[in-house]
Amino acid sequence: MAGEKGASALRGPSVRFLCDAMLGGLAKWLRAAGYDTYYARQGTNVSDGSLTTKALEEGRVLLTSDGGFLERKPVRDGSVGFLRVPHLPLEEQLRLVVGHFALTRRQSRCMECNGELGVVEPGMVAGRVPRGVIQDQRQFFLCEGCGRVFWHGSHWDRITGRLERVFG
Ligand SMILES: [Zn+2]
Repeated sequence: MAGEKGASALRGPSVRFLCDAMLGGLAKWLRAAGYDTYYARQGTNVSDGSLTTKALEEGRVLLTSDGGFLERKPVRDGSVGFLRVPHLPLEEQLRLVVGHFALTRRQSRCMECNGELGVVEPGMVAGRVPRGVIQDQRQFFLCEGCGRVFWHGSHWDRITGRLERVFG
């Protein structure tokens, strides 16, 4: 694949990512797989230049569907890791990134805000989740970024199912 210069040095569980505005779906799934992933939200006015600078400063690998980033000096000279992700179904994009960077599945991060999830007791989330859920679940996950509460319900099962298909 073209445009992967520099990226091969950044592999394994400590790799961090920065997705362009076209890859918001992929960003969420990399977070679910446990990878620190910044995503330039669509509609915000972020230039290629400022994204490249952010990737350089924070040591993030740039994932983009846009070859225009190849004209940026830090990408060209390999100081910013870079992978071009083509327009594919989401699961195929995820599979491609996982394979390229030899990723293994880690403790999930918040898919919404990229925050770390801490394990909390049911008593700590009483009043914030439905009563039936409190009775059924022993473990909850609290996002340290946005404060959302997650638990292993049907939505989580769907997420886990997709991750298992990709990570095997
Ligand atoms: Zn969050």
